[in-house]
Parts: sequence; C-alpha cells; structure tokens
Amino acid sequence: MTELRVDRIACTGHGVCASVLPHHFELDEWGYPIVTDPVVTAADGTTAIRLCPARALYRS
Ligand code: SF4
Repeated sequence: MTELRVDRIACTGHGVCASVLPHHFELDEWGYPIVTDPVVTAADGTTAIRLCPARALYRS
C-alpha cells in the first residue's frame, strides 16, 4: 500500500484521478480533487500517477 497526495499548484482539475480511483478521490464543485482516502495499492498508485495529465499526483 502507498499514500497518494495532490500537488495543488500543479493540479489542473482534469478529474482523471477521481475517474480512476473513485473510492479515493471526489471532485469539488470546480472539478478539483478532494482526497477521501489516500491509501491505495501500489499498482493503483502507479496507474493514477501515470494517468494524471498534470503530473500532480505523488506518493507521500
Ligand atoms: S488527475 Fe491530476 S490534474 Fe486531474 S484532478 Fe487529479 S490530480 Fe488534478
């Protein structure tokens, strides 16, 4: 398991993280992520980091 964090400066609100890991991210009214559960499997963490178009996800 690993913990994901959002770089809020880099994040551009594409919402891919919430689509890929809906049990871990919600989107606020502007489309920016709220981390509801940062603990994900290593594989899910790698996938989400790879798919974030702004490279705004990282492991803590
Ligand atoms: S996928 Fe990346 S850029 Fe898009 S909302 Fe999530 S963290 Fe932000």
